Amino acid sequence: MLLMLTGFMGVAASVLHYLEPQPELMDLVIPPLAAVANLALAIWLVRQPKRILQVVYCAFGVAIAALSLPAWYYSLRANYSSELLITIFPPISSFLIILIVLVMVMLPPRRAFPIMIAAWSLNALPILTYLLTHKDELWSSRGQEMFMSYGLAILLLLVLLPFQHRARMQIQRLQNDNSHMHNLAERDALTRQYNRWGGQRLLDEFMRSGSVGSIIMLDIDHFKLINDTHGHLTGDSVLKQFAMRVSSALRSDGHLIRWGGEEFLVLIRGIAEQDVFTVAERLRTAINGDLFPPVGKLTASGGATSRMENDTLESLIARADKALYQAKLNGRDQVVCG
Ligand code: GH3
Ligand code: MG
Ligand code: MG
Repeated sequence: MLLMLTGFMGVAASVLHYLEPQPELMDLVIPPLAAVANLALAIWLVRQPKRILQVVYCAFGVAIAALSLPAWYYSLRANYSSELLITIFPPISSFLIILIVLVMVMLPPRRAFPIMIAAWSLNALPILTYLLTHKDELWSSRGQEMFMSYGLAILLLLVLLPFQHRARMQIQRLQNDNSHMHNLAERDALTRQYNRWGGQRLLDEFMRSGSVGSIIMLDIDHFKLINDTHGHLTGDSVLKQFAMRVSSALRSDGHLIRWGGEEFLVLIRGIAEQDVFTVAERLRTAINGDLFPPVGKLTASGGATSRMENDTLESLIARADKALYQAKLNGRDQVVCG
């Protein structure tokens, strides 16, 4: 976007200079060249978005060259002729400030600093040297304005760089904290699987995607008895082991959600009606196959269903619930498809 903008600015500047009654050769050459270079860089970026860093460096290189060539050309010309720099120098002294602010904003300080120094020395040194050796021009209002733009303003920006860096780090840390908190908010503290809140987001996304998929509602059989016999802490440990076993029996297209208490919802994207029973059976045997110490054998019942046309999340879940209820009625430790 910025490249396109600077490209068009170059085009506009070129048109303006061609309309001038007595254009300078430098003004006729640099803006169109810079415009072409920037537009070429924009096309490069569109074709290879991964090369963004190289494109940014090249764009800064083009900008530095486009600004420093006139700086050297006009200050040397004024030095070796009777012309005054303050009258022949084009009104581009604020461009260096804009360039340096862009470098500060777009690059980390480690990379920004050398580019800022290079941009400043190539642009400002010939102008400042000229002004300091031609005091009468320095004390004119244009001379003072140029001295401020190329000297003091840039110095101020260099001093501000560490503060800008600190602010940037702070923002980065807040963003990291935010994504960490978001992650935590979507996870269940006991089992580390998605909680109802996180699950709801996954399910909403799945429904919005309109793609094929299935859900399985799993409920541990006679879990209350475990609590009553072994205590709540053992109940908690069984829930953890249960979640671990089910999640490791799932592939990357499956998500385990602790829907509430000892009831879990499994969302499997891309699996349709004919395959959901097989997956549910695989989960059921992963549960009843090995013992859960110190409780021993554990079983779960499942209600499986696949997304149908015109389904809402509520109708999908209601079908899975009904199938689960049927599995319990049928004697538990089984999967019923709804
Ligand atoms: P069913 O086979 O019909 O599902 O019987 P059940 O005993 O598993 O079902 P019920 O709904 O009667 O009991 C569920 C129990 O799960 C009751 C509740 O105390 C317990 N529970 C829910 N959340 C937790 C938890 O986080 N930790 C522990 N230890 N127990 C929990
Ligand atoms: Mg239960
Ligand atoms: Mg239950």
